[in-house]
Amino acid sequence: MDMDYGKTKVSVAKVEGGDVYAAVKKAVDLIGGMGRFVKKGDRVTLKPNLAYPYAPPATTDPRVTKAVAQLALDAGASRVLIGDSPAYSCKKILGVGRWTNQDVIDKTGHAKVAEETGAQIVDFDEGEFVMTDIPDGVILQEAPIAKAMLDTDVVINIPALKMHFETFVTLGLKNYHGILPDHYKVQWHKDEIMQKIVDLHKVVKTHLTILDGLVGMEGLGPRCGSPVEMNLIAASADVVSLDAVATELMGVDAWKVDSTRIAHTQGIGNGKMENIEVVGEKIADVKKDFEHPDVSIDGHYPMFKLIKGGPCVHCYGRTKIMCDDLLAENFDNYADVSTVFVGINPKQIPVEQIQGKALFIGDCAINTTGNLRYALGDRAVCVDGCPPIASVHRELDKMREENGKEKL
Ligand code: SF4
Repeated sequence: MDMDYGKTKVSVAKVEGGDVYAAVKKAVDLIGGMGRFVKKGDRVTLKPNLAYPYAPPATTDPRVTKAVAQLALDAGASRVLIGDSPAYSCKKILGVGRWTNQDVIDKTGHAKVAEETGAQIVDFDEGEFVMTDIPDGVILQEAPIAKAMLDTDVVINIPALKMHFETFVTLGLKNYHGILPDHYKVQWHKDEIMQKIVDLHKVVKTHLTILDGLVGMEGLGPRCGSPVEMNLIAASADVVSLDAVATELMGVDAWKVDSTRIAHTQGIGNGKMENIEVVGEKIADVKKDFEHPDVSIDGHYPMFKLIKGGPCVHCYGRTKIMCDDLLAENFDNYADVSTVFVGINPKQIPVEQIQGKALFIGDCAINTTGNLRYALGDRAVCVDGCPPIASVHRELDKMREENGKEKL
């Protein structure tokens, strides 16, 4: 039996004359105004996408967060927190990685937002995570959730508008990946990720979602894609409906996105476009067809012999990131790497055919090439993990050291 959510509403507002505050206010006014969501004295937590130490579109535009903080304070909020646990601070897991959470807060312009509005920044990783039961969770029966997301009256989710090579899109639902500590983020970063995200939404209610659609990211999101000028803000009380409309704004059928379908069928919100009233701009007038994520690796790296096992989008995507980062370092002779093994059970070529080093990317490639790795000895570089995430940084750091560069 299909879920019946009635008719839900999503607003879409254009930014006119560069006035981001006015567009955010208009989007929120179209669905009842901030007073509908924030009452006098409420404690409010804002959850922008602060996954990386990069400017938009990799992260939420600080002008959008600032406008939301101002509107919440004007509506009478007693305090406004701005929080996230950045995805790129792998220091917590393996002691490696380029940046600290403070770098992320500074480089995304959110330290300035706090300064200018009186909102407070909460680094979730420095605060408490509360182990929380998820009685109807499918993947997660319990999860450690950032206290600032639980110990609050109102949660306002402020995602960016992006394609994602593992989850196809990353919007309001996926933005809750950042309410978990790092090792939990990594643990289910495969096909279970969609269900895991939906499980989180079963215990952390989103009162209002405001989409930063100023500049979207197409292609190899969430970090390495290309910008697309949109100049839009969207808002909804229903995070699933917001995701559905945002997906359509990128030229994709909303129902094709797994997280939207799962969230719809498990009671989080309405993901069916036929039951969504879009107010403000018409989708057909403002949408753009975003380039889809492409994790193809064949033919892109002719300098390496690439040996693929069974297909897995997660390891192929990480291989692309690892090869791109390796090339960007400009090491002499590619840090002596000649061969890359990836995927499930890749063919084991004779060791004599491998010059210098070989990368084995992901636990599948590592676990099914034992004899070859044994024969290679320390010429076998294991980028471990399922999927490999922090190990990409760790191995690049080692290569930097071996090649006389400073560790990152
Ligand atoms: S290690 Fe295996 S299952 Fe895990 S992400 Fe890589 S190819 Fe997929």
